[in-house]
Amino acid sequence: MNDWQQSLREAYREPLRLLKDLHIDPARIDWLDPTPSEFAMRVPRGFAARMQIGNPQDPLLLQVLPRRAEHEDVAGFVPDPLGEAQFQPFPGLIHKYHGRALLIATGACGIHCRYCFRREFPYAQARQGTDGWQAALTGLRADPSIEEIILSGGDPLSLSDDKLERLIEQLDDIAQLRRLRLHTRQIIALPERVTPRLLEIFARSRLRVVVVIHSNHANELDSQVQEALAQLRQIPALLLNQTVLLAGINDSAAILAQLSQRLFECGVQPYYLHQLDAVRGAAHFALADETARGIMRNLNAQLPGYLVPRLVREVPGAPGKSPLNWGPLD
Ligand SMILES: *Cc1c(COP(=O)(O)O)cnc(C)c1O
Ligand code: SF4
Repeated sequence: MNDWQQSLREAYREPLRLLKDLHIDPARIDWLDPTPSEFAMRVPRGFAARMQIGNPQDPLLLQVLPRRAEHEDVAGFVPDPLGEAQFQPFPGLIHKYHGRALLIATGACGIHCRYCFRREFPYAQARQGTDGWQAALTGLRADPSIEEIILSGGDPLSLSDDKLERLIEQLDDIAQLRRLRLHTRQIIALPERVTPRLLEIFARSRLRVVVVIHSNHANELDSQVQEALAQLRQIPALLLNQTVLLAGINDSAAILAQLSQRLFECGVQPYYLHQLDAVRGAAHFALADETARGIMRNLNAQLPGYLVPRLVREVPGAPGKSPLNWGPLD
């Protein structure tokens, strides 16, 4: 077993245990759900170590600690907000945009984010055959217009090196593919996942590698994460970041500016800032469009243009991510 697999086993699964180690009295958190039933808590110890001791409002803690409000029904918040079920021409292959398709490589993640838009995704139906992706590969081979394959999930870096190697070798053999993109939060959840073997697998592929890390706050990017990112850059891989705008966690221009600055230090280019997908159970994280636009105006006034992410939302049926125009400064 690799170090990262050991770390995964040792992740916190009990909210009360995590709070105890952070010296936080659960009685101080009236919104806590101490025994989440459908979507379990999972927090790697290394991620928890970046939280502030004694602070129930820590921005990393707020992303992972289960809330009672997740059980409330809120109008407009549904199990499949992006209508992904209807865009799977083959099980496990989501094809919505021209030239690129998304492969559900696994249902597993190293960390469970409470805002996750795939928290109710029917992974069992999407993954068929020994490794789970044979149907998706058949679909890919049948469509020469697809030149970029995006590994998603779940988290593609929760696959073992052996499985990932098998998958990438099969992708290498699909002639029309040029780019291999991974959308992953694993480098933040478990930076030890970036093993020498993983780097070798990427370096050996004939495809150009793009890694989109999902960081929501500068505090997530400690020196260990920075080191893992530096190694990925040397493959070479293009490193991008996407952030979900989350109420109470990163809903200010100051916090997002810090994140962009920190990403730059880590060699990562800010890419998208997402308005939350309206998944059931996450309504308490949502921000009004007007609030998001105001944050963007302030952010744009603080940073060089290349550190300002694009504010977008996912609209089912649209040909790409839909930009939210936030207009010039008054
Ligand atoms: C977000 C997404 C993509 C990637 O879109 P880009 O704008 O290229 O980053 C591709 N396919 C699906 C299904 C997506 O949801
Ligand atoms: S890592 Fe991504 S897919 Fe996994 S729980 Fe978090 S948001 Fe969802």
